[in-house]
Amino acid sequence: MDEKTQGQLLSEKLVYKTKNTFESKNAEKDVVTEYCEGYKKFLDNSKTEREAVTETISMIEKKGYKPYKLGDKLERGGKYYLNNRNKSLFMFKLGSESIENGIRITASHIDSPRVDFKPRPVYEDSEMCFFKTHYYGGIKKYQWVTTPLSLHGVICKPDGDVTVCIGEDDSDPVFYISDLAPHIAQLQYQKHVGEAITGEQLNLLAGSEPYDDEKTSDKVKLTVLSLLNEKYGCTEADLISAELCAVPALKARDIGLDRSMIGSYGHDDRVCAYPSVTAMLESEDSEHTLMNIIADKEEVGSDGVSGMQCALLSDIIEEIALALGGNPRVVRANSKCLSADVNVAYDPNFPEVFERRNTAFLNHGVVLSKYTGARGKSGTSDASAEFVEFVTRTFDEEGVDWQMAELGKIDLGGGGTVAKYIANINIDTIDLGVPVISMHAPYELVAKNDVYMVHKAIKAFYK
Ligand code: MN
Ligand code: MN
Repeated sequence: MDEKTQGQLLSEKLVYKTKNTFESKNAEKDVVTEYCEGYKKFLDNSKTEREAVTETISMIEKKGYKPYKLGDKLERGGKYYLNNRNKSLFMFKLGSESIENGIRITASHIDSPRVDFKPRPVYEDSEMCFFKTHYYGGIKKYQWVTTPLSLHGVICKPDGDVTVCIGEDDSDPVFYISDLAPHIAQLQYQKHVGEAITGEQLNLLAGSEPYDDEKTSDKVKLTVLSLLNEKYGCTEADLISAELCAVPALKARDIGLDRSMIGSYGHDDRVCAYPSVTAMLESEDSEHTLMNIIADKEEVGSDGVSGMQCALLSDIIEEIALALGGNPRVVRANSKCLSADVNVAYDPNFPEVFERRNTAFLNHGVVLSKYTGARGKSGTSDASAEFVEFVTRTFDEEGVDWQMAELGKIDLGGGGTVAKYIANINIDTIDLGVPVISMHAPYELVAKNDVYMVHKAIKAFYK
């Protein structure tokens, strides 16, 4: 082999390049493939935050995690989870070192953009029955028409709550939002693409067969209500308090002849939630106190009792600190957090919106974002140089492929995560996640290597 020239050696020393995991060999293909089979199952079983909480509890109870409520006794070495109203979950493992060294926290979210039911959803028009919806999160509305949708949620009644899931089994019916035929779409074509389909047009088609009784009106609506009553024992009035939503009735599938990618609904942010759970379950030996949060309401601003702006995180940290004889303020000050959420991957079909040197690429590992925000870094926490160095050094030591990126060109893009809400209570926090193509679409895309690399990154952080 030829000896390297001085220039080549200098270039190796001085020039920075990100690594493609296929070339870095930091993940074995067989391991990645097997890991992602587990992730695909999680995706199919966890299309809403409630389902993700149930699925996660079944995963962690097998590994000895015990239910915990505020005020319960905590013991050093114990493994606990707090199920917050079936919508968000805090799992934590109390370590052997001093609690005043802080907690290693990962926070991701399990809500995804979708189409929620309005409180009074059912109506009949032109001998068709529909459900009125109110979309949840940042969707491109035109993407949600003419695609099969399934129904998920809960109906609460005086005689008990029932869980709803229609459209996931291959033998189930699905639901549908209509669009115009191109033949009669001349007016629609003249509209701005963001207005081609409006929020009030996202009406879910639910039936077309009239109830067989001459003496009633709205016969198709009555058929639909009678079928709901048969299946769930509910009336139209019960739907007022119900939480029902429509999500794509599509399963996670391998994408590409090489099967290197996964298409699915709701990668954002189950693609960080699942690895955060598996990483925690493989960190039994860590001496640190570890906490893993899968939160709700990130897609609509993290407000409310199940969002990351809720005081519950502070309350749990305080309970842990007091149980282990630490000062809660000191515990928070010394804690560290990975805000695990997705980022945008470079898409060569839309080069004009990216600044390539500061953009994440598929297969180049986890994406770190020192800051997010928009319009001159507004509305974000900004991880310190010291903390970024700590995290990237940890990843380098543990063979984690990582890349640092922004979200689109300045003044074209922008976004936010839960990072700032955790940083606001005096915890060093940085965003980390998976690059995604077609984020918030009914069917999003990620690379398998990157999914596995998040698992590896969080494990490194917990070590
Ligand atoms: Mn997200
Ligand atoms: Mn999102």
